[in-house]
Amino acid sequence: MAAPRAPLELRHVPAPRPEPGGAVLETVASEVCGTDVHLHHGRLAGVPYPIVPGHVSVGRVLETNGPLRDALGREIGIGRLVTFYDVYGICGSCWHCLVAKAGTRCPQRKVYGITTGLGDGLLGGWAERIELKPGVRVLPLPEGLDASDFMGGGCGLPTGFHAVERAQVALGDTVVVQGSGPVGLNALVFAQLAGALRVLVTGAPSARLAEARRLGADETLDVGATRDPAERARWVRDRTGGRGADVVIEASGNPQAVVEGLEMLRDAGRYVIVGQYTDAGDVTLNPHRHLNRRHATVLGCWGYEYTHLHRSVEMMARHRERFGWARLVTREYPLAEAERALADMEALSVVKALIRPSPPA
Ligand SMILES: [Zn+2]
Ligand SMILES: [Zn+2]
Repeated sequence: MAAPRAPLELRHVPAPRPEPGGAVLETVASEVCGTDVHLHHGRLAGVPYPIVPGHVSVGRVLETNGPLRDALGREIGIGRLVTFYDVYGICGSCWHCLVAKAGTRCPQRKVYGITTGLGDGLLGGWAERIELKPGVRVLPLPEGLDASDFMGGGCGLPTGFHAVERAQVALGDTVVVQGSGPVGLNALVFAQLAGALRVLVTGAPSARLAEARRLGADETLDVGATRDPAERARWVRDRTGGRGADVVIEASGNPQAVVEGLEMLRDAGRYVIVGQYTDAGDVTLNPHRHLNRRHATVLGCWGYEYTHLHRSVEMMARHRERFGWARLVTREYPLAEAERALADMEALSVVKALIRPSPPA
């Protein structure tokens, strides 16, 4: 991706070699997600174009330079199918890391395929090889999971997991998820695993809502068909004895959804905002009605840490049959069709799109 809004280019570059402590992966699959659409529109600050997109990927270990180990200290062998935490370089020594214990806000933090450019190396999954820098946390896929399973969750898997953890979903809660993209769908999954009594999903288009029902949503509301936000909030209150939901998770990306979501929340409920990854503008709140009198707890949720990736992948391995994440992959594209993959993602005509640099032999 040479520059925002410019056509994607297929480039040949020298094959990467691992630095000491690093590794090189042969890419199996890499995701196309909403972030890549934002990158192509130039809506994220500090992106060092040209970049190789693809922040969440699966590959086989091709070469290492010194032992490569997982979080348990076990050596990861050549040929092993792995994913990795796309964030690296968290310094562990700045104010954010040491005092605030907010590693996702560390200014040294770098992200594969987003805040790293072609000048930093082959640090994105839309390529035949991926270079793993020393210190990148590598996670071998557990037995029974293949690349399509993991990539069906993609970055939405640990992000949805983090949002549910942040919401402290309790046994018997009624949860509303606003948004039926990969983050919303994974929040729906983990809310159930966290003990929610039921989960309601508002979103669009209908194919994504059908996936939500397959994944266990009790009911879904098509925001394209029910256009009045007041009516949508009423839909939630009608199902909660007029009170509103215990927990609402915003995973839509639309700023207006925040006002709407607070209208759906019961008094003393918990609201988590995870969908506002880019700055899509301001909204007007009524602090008295939406927050103070409602006694609401409102939490932002930025990115995820290695712990969320690790635990969400273990949960995926345990619940693979029940949720069938691989079915969320609507379509796979070779590198030469990356432009089309982006267009399909932008049009929401796919739930999950993958780049497969080399078609399976
Ligand atoms: Zn730091
Ligand atoms: Zn992503």
